[in-house]
Amino acid sequence: MRLLIVSNRLPFTAVREEGEIKLKPSSGGLVSGISSYLDFMKNSPVSDFEYLWLGWPGTWVEETLQKKFSEEVSKNHSVVPVFIQEEEMENFYQGLCNKTIWPLFHYFPSYARYLEENWTVYKKINEQFCEKICEIVAEDDTIWIHDYHLMLLPQMLREKLGNKYKIGFFLHIPFPSFEVYRIMPSRWREELLRGLLGADLVGFHTNEYTHSFLRSVLRILGLPHEMGRISHEGRVIKADTFPIGIDFEKFSGSTEKENVKKETAEIKTKLKNLKTIFSVDRLDYTKGIPNRLEAFKLFLKNNPDYIKKVVFILAIVPSRVGIDHYQEIKNELDKLVGNINSEFGDIDWQPVIYQYRNIPFENLVALYAAGDVALITPLRDGMNLVAKEYLACQKNAAGVLILSEMAGAAKELTEAVIINPNDIKETAAAIKTALEMDGETALNNLKMMQERLRNYNVVEWARDFLGNLEKTRLKSVEMDVKIITQDYLKKIAKDFQKAQKKLILLDYDGTLVPFDRNPAKAKPDEELLNLLLGISAKAETAILSGRDANFLSKNFDSLNIGLSAEHGAWIKEKGGTWQMRVHSDTSWKKEMLNIFKVYSNRLPGSFLEEKTFSLALHYRKCDPEMAEIRVKEFIDEMVNYTSNLNLQILRGSKVVEIRNYEVNKAGAGMFFINKEPYDFILFMGDDWTDEDLFRALKDKNAYTVKVGLDASIAKLNVYDWKKARNLIKELADA
Ligand code: UDP
Repeated sequence: MRLLIVSNRLPFTAVREEGEIKLKPSSGGLVSGISSYLDFMKNSPVSDFEYLWLGWPGTWVEETLQKKFSEEVSKNHSVVPVFIQEEEMENFYQGLCNKTIWPLFHYFPSYARYLEENWTVYKKINEQFCEKICEIVAEDDTIWIHDYHLMLLPQMLREKLGNKYKIGFFLHIPFPSFEVYRIMPSRWREELLRGLLGADLVGFHTNEYTHSFLRSVLRILGLPHEMGRISHEGRVIKADTFPIGIDFEKFSGSTEKENVKKETAEIKTKLKNLKTIFSVDRLDYTKGIPNRLEAFKLFLKNNPDYIKKVVFILAIVPSRVGIDHYQEIKNELDKLVGNINSEFGDIDWQPVIYQYRNIPFENLVALYAAGDVALITPLRDGMNLVAKEYLACQKNAAGVLILSEMAGAAKELTEAVIINPNDIKETAAAIKTALEMDGETALNNLKMMQERLRNYNVVEWARDFLGNLEKTRLKSVEMDVKIITQDYLKKIAKDFQKAQKKLILLDYDGTLVPFDRNPAKAKPDEELLNLLLGISAKAETAILSGRDANFLSKNFDSLNIGLSAEHGAWIKEKGGTWQMRVHSDTSWKKEMLNIFKVYSNRLPGSFLEEKTFSLALHYRKCDPEMAEIRVKEFIDEMVNYTSNLNLQILRGSKVVEIRNYEVNKAGAGMFFINKEPYDFILFMGDDWTDEDLFRALKDKNAYTVKVGLDASIAKLNVYDWKKARNLIKELADA
């Protein structure tokens, strides 16, 4: 298989030195994580593994040199550079990415800017990535897109490449709650969601992010989900949680290297074996560095015994230089560190050791190994890899991790000392707890967390994601949409013409008429009645509806067709009278009715319907999100009540129905089908309740047509009820 990794940055950065372009490895968690996975795959026995990494090379290269540059770098690296003009980088990366999406998604709405020109360029750059991928993509490639810079790309690719490629998307930052997400201009928030839904699988670090995404999809696009699966434009898209891991063995193993051991010992000696608290972060307002310093200051104030016994190494990695809020935070830190050192420091002791630079890998590992306490206090963080890397580098001298509950990692690292970063008092107390934790407790906690990190490392994470992408894809293909083309329509009409005995079975609501907020109003119009008149002159015709017998008789008795009411519970043959097809015990209805009433009262706009063998709760007029929550609770409760009864719970289009097992459209459909040796059968339906008959006809010589673009077992699809009528007309005229 070939994997196309797509991210804003390539795993190396091209820098200009003395007029020449030189390549330096890129830093950051995404690049190192994916690189570890790619190394693993290259060395594994999966012989046909190949990959290409597409991204921005870190600098603008003149158009005349681009070809040469690409050829040059691809000699040693499996990469495809996507060149972006410097001015465009300003609007795209510094602009929409880091002045809109980043602050908003990290719950800093007041920092977010909404400039139309940034949005335009964001779209343009996503298009540029799309074009590049289309140029190089080959059959069977899997495309894996990363992070918030490229949220429109999945849908752009879907439009260009169609349905045959596997596309995965992973978001490395939080997905905010709906109330925060909706702050974005309407068009943008809609387009970004649609953009992501171009993928087959959309991955997030925590269940909260996944739920927030699904909630926004429901509230903004009106698309509900079933267990994280969304049915959209004829595809099944899954949203799921994959907390990214680290290359555990690489970090853990590096602590054993001689030079790293030496450096760790040197750090200890230089610090005169004082207890060491430390933190490493990119300079970012989301990392909660000022509150961390405030907490350390309070800790010193409250615990004077620790003066000259402890030291705090604050390592800051420069980042996003040139954006205002980043410069502001730098100034604030400089001041805070100065304050603490001047207030508590002495000629022979400086409480905070502050460094502002990139840290090469082995120095970082030595720092991790030397730290007695890691103090990680982000105000928001998608995951936080530093916390995990620290734990991997701790050996028997068990270090203690203090971790903000606002970091995605807190969901997995539950044995850490968890704090709320806005609670300075709590954080100060946590520093004391961590420093004084007894060795055995600290070691036990560490071992448990290490075990988890070792098992679900970054390779497992990537394999899990890609494995799920494959599975989602198979599911999607199984339920793939096959729209009836004009040519195919001709073929069906021809088959119809040739056949001796023909049967047309039709669902009613959603198939022959559009849904109406008031079901009583969805009466057949003249065009439909004429259409049914026409088709029933040429073929046996029956309507299989969920409606009651009364409604069907009133509206269709004038026609010479068969009818089935209440999803097959009742049948009326052409010219005959209504017959009950199933005889089941319905005493359950009385008891259930009360529960139905309770839920109907709790869901404004809903109403109840009682039929011979079923009870239904309709919620077409309700607030969609409220309905999702209530209906799930309702179904949950119903599952308990019905577990030892012969009942089934069905979710139709904005309706939940409980009914006797024996009652379903497959039974009614087969009743009509088995009456004669038909050589042309067509059944059209739009709803989950029609799937039973679609399934029953799956391997039979019959045309099964799903009305709408939702996933279905039906063999064919038409776009909507108008197209369904069109198909009938085509047959009637054949
Ligand atoms: N890191 C780095 N250069 C440094 C210091 C750290 O690349 O000078 C790495 C660190 O090992 C970690 C990543 O940067 O993998 C930071 O990831 P994290 O999730 O903690 O925060 P982010 O920077 O992604 O917000």
